[in-house]
Amino acid sequence: MRISIKTRFFLSHFLAVVLVSGSIGIFFYLSARHSLLENLKARLSNTAAMAAESVDIQSLDGVHSPADTSSPAYLNTLEMLRRLCSANPDVAYIYIMRKVGPKTVFVLDSDPTKRQALPGTEYPNPPASLLEGFNSSSVDDRLYRDAWGVFMSGYAPLRGGRAPSLLGIDMRDAEVSRQLRQLRLSGLASLVLSLGLAFVFATVLARRINRPVELFVKTCSDVAEGRKEIRVETQTGDELDRLASAINDMSRRLEENQARRAEAEVELKRSRDEMESKVRERTTELQALNERLLFEIEERKKAEQALFHAAMTDSLTGLLNRRAMEKQLSIHLARVQRGGSSFVVLLCDIDRFKSVNDSYGHEIGDQMLRLSAETLQTSVRDGDMVSRWGGEEFLILLADTDLRGGLVAAENLRRSFAKLVLKINEAEISRTISIGVTTCIDCRDEDEVVRRADEALYEAKRLGRNRVEVSRSPGVNDAARDSEASS
Ligand code: GH3
Ligand code: MG
Ligand code: MG
Repeated sequence: MRISIKTRFFLSHFLAVVLVSGSIGIFFYLSARHSLLENLKARLSNTAAMAAESVDIQSLDGVHSPADTSSPAYLNTLEMLRRLCSANPDVAYIYIMRKVGPKTVFVLDSDPTKRQALPGTEYPNPPASLLEGFNSSSVDDRLYRDAWGVFMSGYAPLRGGRAPSLLGIDMRDAEVSRQLRQLRLSGLASLVLSLGLAFVFATVLARRINRPVELFVKTCSDVAEGRKEIRVETQTGDELDRLASAINDMSRRLEENQARRAEAEVELKRSRDEMESKVRERTTELQALNERLLFEIEERKKAEQALFHAAMTDSLTGLLNRRAMEKQLSIHLARVQRGGSSFVVLLCDIDRFKSVNDSYGHEIGDQMLRLSAETLQTSVRDGDMVSRWGGEEFLILLADTDLRGGLVAAENLRRSFAKLVLKINEAEISRTISIGVTTCIDCRDEDEVVRRADEALYEAKRLGRNRVEVSRSPGVNDAARDSEASS
């Protein structure tokens, strides 16, 4: 169960005030009750003593039975006691009793009704206070019920008679009860009053404490919602003032922090924008640089390819140059040595070429060389390689070819070349070609292949030019013989 602070404060104050006022009220009530009873007892005792003074007990020594009620002493005393009774309205009866052996019997009773106890009537079960009254003044400590009603009685001894006697006064319980009821009523009234006061006091106190608390709660909520310039004002002059000052301090610092944070965010945004702008600029620059680099790499690749091409080709004819062909020879020879198919080399030299230069000029000689290269290139199969070996010499590598095939190809080349005509103005220039043929069988390296082809070419020149000669090397001769036999 949840109880609000206000209710708790109210309950604690209310209960505290009720407890204190209740304790004090009960104390005063009990004291008042005690003193009321003591007063009653004192009055009973005094009245009994005073009445006892007026009674001549000796004159009543002869009254023992109802027959004695006509004696003058009886009647005089009865008259006197009845007057006393009527003078004290809170007194019900006054009577005289005597001790007869163990019994206590009436001598006289002021009761004017027919319930009057006649002389000699025994009073049954007398209380201790009554018995004490035969010796000294005594009073009942409480109300006692007997055949005549409920009473509180006071007793005074009557001395001078033959038997121990006493005078008793009964006070009606109604009177005692009335006085006690009055006391209770005034006690109850003061209790109600103290409850009312406690309620008012507790309510005021609880409000006084709760109001600042609610103010603090509202202030804290306002601060939490981000409202500015929130200050709480209390003037209780106690710890709540300190709490209010702490809350105000907290609110002020929070505002300062928020302001600082807002400034920092603005600064952060500005830096971020600046950074983004720089990054964009730098990215654009890098992209441009990258594009330039890619372009340069592309250009360099092209230059490298051009260089490679230039390094591997002959600038005049566009054929492979000597270095490129040497590499191809090396590659093909290695392949043959690994068990691959053989190849044939044709070393071609244009016959009497010098005379072209001499007759038409070096420029025309170059044209003749270009035309010769074109003719040779177009006369071989795909996969065969034609190179300018030097000057007017061309070295041709016929791949996957044996000597027989090589000779056929050489002969076809020789014939095709002889038909070549370079027309210059009116002049027609044509030349023949001598070809030295060899195959790669038994060759240790590419130099040996070339040397053998060169020897065969030399032989072709020596035997009159415009012819095809085969290398005289042993392996090649065997192959040539096999070739002639099969043809
Ligand atoms: P042979 O039948 O004995 O081979 O006679 P040849 O005249 O062809 O041989 P020689 O070695 O005497 O002459 C080769 C000539 O080829 C010499 C040179 O002027 C010419 N020559 C070499 N390279 C070039 C070139 O690049 N351009 C031109 N125009 N001529 C060249
Ligand atoms: Mg030559
Ligand atoms: Mg020549």
